Amino acid sequence: MSFTVAIVGRPNVGKSTLFNRIIGKRVSIVDDKPGVTRDRIYGQIEWNGKKLTVVDTGGVEPASRDIILNQMKRQVDFAIDTADVIVFLVDGKEGLTSADEDVASILRKSGKPVLLVVNKVDNFRNVPENYEFYRLGFDDIIFISASHGLAVGDLLDRLTDYI
Ligand code: GDP
Ligand code: MG
Repeated sequence: MSFTVAIVGRPNVGKSTLFNRIIGKRVSIVDDKPGVTRDRIYGQIEWNGKKLTVVDTGGVEPASRDIILNQMKRQVDFAIDTADVIVFLVDGKEGLTSADEDVASILRKSGKPVLLVVNKVDNFRNVPENYEFYRLGFDDIIFISASHGLAVGDLLDRLTDYI
């Protein structure tokens, strides 16, 4: 099994958009409604001469708030069990939410390497207004736009640094 990267985060933060951007195909379903990744989806790429397996851990069906929270916990458990590094994706347009804080505390306790990725930073002038995410307590943080492809190469560079 090659080095595995799992993408976790709330519904609608852009997990599937990022996955498709990294893999270079529209494999994963992107939808405006939260929770519309049907299943875990795996893809492989080579970057800086290193092989990465990337997992989109998205949800099963659009669902109620309780079901979504439950699902997120399962995704996080799965990622902790199987990934070498976890991409914790948050939404820079929406800002920091309590669900992000819940996920962050589980991830911190796991001791797994976590790269905190603030998505939807479509313009780098918007980076300072996203400094609140430093509060989540991860040293490794990067600001990207999955849909515009901004800093996604930098993200992959950072991921291969963990290998
Ligand atoms: P998921 O539920 O986490 O898999 O999120 P999706 O990938 O399905 O994306 C949810 C919504 O966010 C879609 O409407 C995407 O087009 C949008 N989105 C994803 N990445 C970006 C981004 O970098 N900037 C902006 N403005 N929208 C984005
Ligand atoms: Mg999805």
